[in-house]
Amino acid sequence: MNRAEMYRRLRSHGGPWDLIVVGGGATGVGVAIDGASRGYDVLLVEQSDFGKGTSSRSTKLAHGGVRYLEQGNVSLVMEALRERGLMLQNAPHLVRNLGFVVPNYDWWEAPFYGIGLKLYNLLAGKYGFGDSRILSREETLERLPTINTGGLRGGVIYFDGQFDDSRMLINLAATAAEQGAVLINYAQVIGLLKDNDAFVNGVAVRDMETGEEFEAAAKVVINATGPFTDDLRRKAEPDTQPMIAPSQGIHLVFDGSFLAGDNAIMVPHTSDGRVMFALPWHGHTLVGTTDTPVAEAALEPVAQEQEIEFVLGTASLYLAKKPTRGDVTSIFAGIRPLVRAGDSANTAALSRGHTIRIENSGMVTICGGKWTTYRHMAEDCVNQAAILGRLEERPCVTGHLNIHGFHSSAARFGRLSVYGSDAPAIEKLGEADPSLAGPLHGALPYSAAEVVWAAREEMARTVEDVLARRTRALFLNARAAIEMAPRVAALMARELGWNAAREQAQLQAFHETAHGFLPG
Ligand SMILES: Cc1cc2nc3c(=O)[nH]c(=O)nc-3n(C[C@H](O)[C@H](O)[C@H](O)COP(=O)(O)OP(=O)(O)OC[C@H]3O[C@@H](n4cnc5c(N)ncnc54)[C@H](O)[C@@H]3O)c2cc1C
Repeated sequence: MNRAEMYRRLRSHGGPWDLIVVGGGATGVGVAIDGASRGYDVLLVEQSDFGKGTSSRSTKLAHGGVRYLEQGNVSLVMEALRERGLMLQNAPHLVRNLGFVVPNYDWWEAPFYGIGLKLYNLLAGKYGFGDSRILSREETLERLPTINTGGLRGGVIYFDGQFDDSRMLINLAATAAEQGAVLINYAQVIGLLKDNDAFVNGVAVRDMETGEEFEAAAKVVINATGPFTDDLRRKAEPDTQPMIAPSQGIHLVFDGSFLAGDNAIMVPHTSDGRVMFALPWHGHTLVGTTDTPVAEAALEPVAQEQEIEFVLGTASLYLAKKPTRGDVTSIFAGIRPLVRAGDSANTAALSRGHTIRIENSGMVTICGGKWTTYRHMAEDCVNQAAILGRLEERPCVTGHLNIHGFHSSAARFGRLSVYGSDAPAIEKLGEADPSLAGPLHGALPYSAAEVVWAAREEMARTVEDVLARRTRALFLNARAAIEMAPRVAALMARELGWNAAREQAQLQAFHETAHGFLPG
């Protein structure tokens, strides 16, 4: 992927696009893949970096959602379990099967969760990840050597998917490009174009790097802006009623010693009645999340003090080594684009199903849903858009479409396994120039070769793109990421031809963002 090449393809495109997708998160990029792989002409514009919004800030589970089963939402669970299976099938380099242990401290928990989790696995049918079963106290301790043992009776284990969300997104963007879509990051939709009947038939875009503006015409414009859905809807119809109830969720990250072994803890009922996870992720321990209604969406949301205290308090109940604020290596917050249901103040109870809405203006809005269901959401959306735009009817092919980087035994690439089939090319960069080979920081494995790769092949445009979403440095260890930043900026300056002032400005901007990931 190369931004200049994307612009070249944009400029050489004649006539209206079949589909213009606004928003480069899981939803929008999923729609771009679906549309392009059916043979439609697709342009996608993202105001910031691909995945800058919610899609890099999830719990990173490809899951059916045990909680939704408890809420009786069987159809959502079945849909998500099928999609989980397809995600693993199409992107095995990024999705893995992980054991989740529900620790039991009361006598009734083993039979209760044992039956529920059997049903969860049954619903997965041929896409099952493995049988759930009841564990003795000893077996629980074998799987979770650092769990709080006080009062521990045993556990129930079940299996679900874990993935790297922003790496998946970058590979999805590459897949869309390979299917013929044009995707441009740092390009914000600032207005909608309308025909004589007031139907939306294009977008006005500002390039956020140069400030230049351009227009692009489309048979259908798709609003996939996640938490910002209502902003774009208002651009189409100023009086429209909001449909999003934004809800914030945060995660705390610790070093890997807090959750030794390679299994996750699933807490089915926290003190506020939610689910919480402690997960092993890239050698660290990830704990979350919360569900806090917020008045409006921000592109860089900030964790609230009570959310941090709540996650720390809950983690302390289940981990032998009680984490404190001083142990936190990174904090990240994301906003769920949940679809409103009346005046409900409880966002945890809102449906995680998706909604597709054809606005009076003819714009198609797609929102809600889950990362796990992005493919199915896209299929539904393109089906609707094709009818609306009178596009030639063509079947969806993404059920069995390999995602860029697909590799059936990527584990052989060790720490580069998330790059899948791209890993050898990154290794070669390090072999050709040994100064690119070693880690950039003692606390994290990332090398200069990955920075160069990100700038050359993955449309990374800023220091933050590299440290937050091409690598996960900022999400794992914010302080280490800050210490890596000058070297990353120098490498990017060389690759992208930045002058000294731009390099400095980039560093400054990264520091400001990274500050929000520090425990304070
Ligand atoms: C804390 C948390 C944990 C979660 N955990 C999980 C999980 O474990 N598993 C799971 O399946 N799901 C999970 N989810 C849900 C999942 O992350 C979201 O459903 C999904 O990422 C939403 O993607 P999206 O593309 O709709 O939104 P986003 O990723 O936010 O993308 C929208 C994009 O639109 C862009 N945009 C906005 N306005 C404009 C404009 N005018 N012009 C151009 N671009 C624009 C934004 O910059 C943004 O990048 C979680 C969500 C949260 C908040």
